[in-house]
Amino acid sequence: MFIDSHSHLFAIEDSKIDMADIEKALVFSYDVANFDLALDYCKKHEKCACGLGIYPEFALNYDQNAENFIKAHRHDIVAIGEIGLDSTFPNYSKQIEAFLGQIALAKELNLPISVHLRNLEDYQHFFDLFKRDVPCVLHAFHGDMNIAKRAIDLGCYISFSGNLTYKRNVLLREVAKIVPDAQLLIETDSPSMLPAGLNRGEKNVPQNIVFTAKTLATVRGVELSDICLLTSENAKKVFKLEG
Ligand SMILES: [Zn+2]
Repeated sequence: MFIDSHSHLFAIEDSKIDMADIEKALVFSYDVANFDLALDYCKKHEKCACGLGIYPEFALNYDQNAENFIKAHRHDIVAIGEIGLDSTFPNYSKQIEAFLGQIALAKELNLPISVHLRNLEDYQHFFDLFKRDVPCVLHAFHGDMNIAKRAIDLGCYISFSGNLTYKRNVLLREVAKIVPDAQLLIETDSPSMLPAGLNRGEKNVPQNIVFTAKTLATVRGVELSDICLLTSENAKKVFKLEG
């Protein structure tokens, strides 16, 4: 049984999803417009736990109302996310403001954060801005070895997604070897990040987590069951999931 540490399952038809091997899936909003979708989805699906936050593309929507909404739903959520920095989108100063605002909110609410970073400069800004105030998951990690070492030193959890399986991502698999057991997580980022070898154009789904898990097991030289156990324990710890 796996814990999928990052997804947007409300964007996928129920009939495509098979949760048989999934103990829990974290379901994150990415804009104010889907706060309710994420919350409602997790109310209806007992294996899901919700995170609320605003993704860099929609940073302009981070305001007092959004913050108040999240505070009002404190007991329905286990994390703040998906938040982050992404230099492919405009409004970078607003992105930084929204990112710092949501970190402060996470601290106030005693919640971890699930963070999206796109380019090298985004990782660098993250290192300038992040002060270890809250437990931090770097979701769909794809930084290089130096970035990984800095993130590990900062105590971040490193969450690997379907891109770990892509043939070209040789260096990412090298990174996956050095992440300490205690900081390792796994995710699908469904409906995005479809692992290699699957039908392109299909939406990614939680049951595909096994492809990333198998790759992690191979590169780390351990059994698939070890990856499963380890990443589930870590997810329970960082998101304070019971059971
Ligand atoms: Zn995501």
